[in-house]
Amino acid sequence: MLILDGTSLAAKFKGKIEDEVNALIKKGTTPSLHILLANADDASAIYVRNKLNTCEKLSIRAKLHKFNPESITQEDILQKISLLNVDENVHGILCQLPLPKHINADMVAAAIAPKKDVDCFNPFNIGQLFNEETLLEPCTPKAIIALLHHYQIDLTGKRVVIIGRSKIVGKPLALMLLRKQNNATVTVCHSRSKNLKEICLSADVLIPALGKANFLNEDYIKPEAVVVDVGISKIRVGDKNKTCGDVDFNRVKDLVFAISKVPGGVGPMTIHMLIDNLVKTTKMQTQK
Ligand code: NAP
Repeated sequence: MLILDGTSLAAKFKGKIEDEVNALIKKGTTPSLHILLANADDASAIYVRNKLNTCEKLSIRAKLHKFNPESITQEDILQKISLLNVDENVHGILCQLPLPKHINADMVAAAIAPKKDVDCFNPFNIGQLFNEETLLEPCTPKAIIALLHHYQIDLTGKRVVIIGRSKIVGKPLALMLLRKQNNATVTVCHSRSKNLKEICLSADVLIPALGKANFLNEDYIKPEAVVVDVGISKIRVGDKNKTCGDVDFNRVKDLVFAISKVPGGVGPMTIHMLIDNLVKTTKMQTQK
């Protein structure tokens, strides 16, 4: 059984990004990322801290704009984005999700200038995913595909089953896997899908992104399948919190051809894909 090791791949990828950032700095531009945070969610605080730390390690300028989740208005956040959009010292903007219920997340995504949209959530950039190639791709799908490519998992003609149809993972991933460079036959499942077990058993490559701890066991996995586990959940084991994926790793590990672990799979790659997008948006704005 092969482990799709996102931690070691991320370490390799970091070297490549470092070189690109240093080349930009040498030419006089330090990439700069602005993060908008309007929730009091613990998980979001951790994600934002990781992003800021990664930027610091790579000599990237990063600034956090914090808003009070209760008093923030749609107008406040859109105004801040308008200012950042026209500031030539800002190369990337992202808004950490979730947003408070009274804020329209779609409008926020649409307000971020496509050339600064490092998360690739703006409808223009999402629309570009219909094309065979695009400069910007959403970070998690990009991380999943990078992991599969690195381990030379040939997707041509393979049946790939994605569980989850979110805008962040499932939907963009399906579009990207359909591209001619991947040539996968894609099925996307969700909470209303019937016969989930049977569909999963038909998968050459199974990509669960449900967010339900240990939801999938050996009953869902075809022998010799490749599994990329995207889900991240916290469970209580004894008096400790444990991070685990959507797949019960121990129950399927002897059955699969390859599998990613949680933690240590898609997660470590995702943040580097964000920085890769920032390098791209910086180049777009500085290289005439
Ligand atoms: P989400 O928006 O909550 O979407 C979850 C999807 O799973 C939905 O489409 C939902 O169906 C589907 N689903 C839920 N229960 C199901 C069931 N019993 N059977 C079939 N489908 C079911 O979540 P998300 O933002 O896409 O994230 C999914 C997971 O990936 C989370 O654990 C998240 O933490 C993790 N994640 C990891 C990374 C990373 O870097 N590794 C990045 C992003 C997200 P409906 O649409 O019908 O509700």
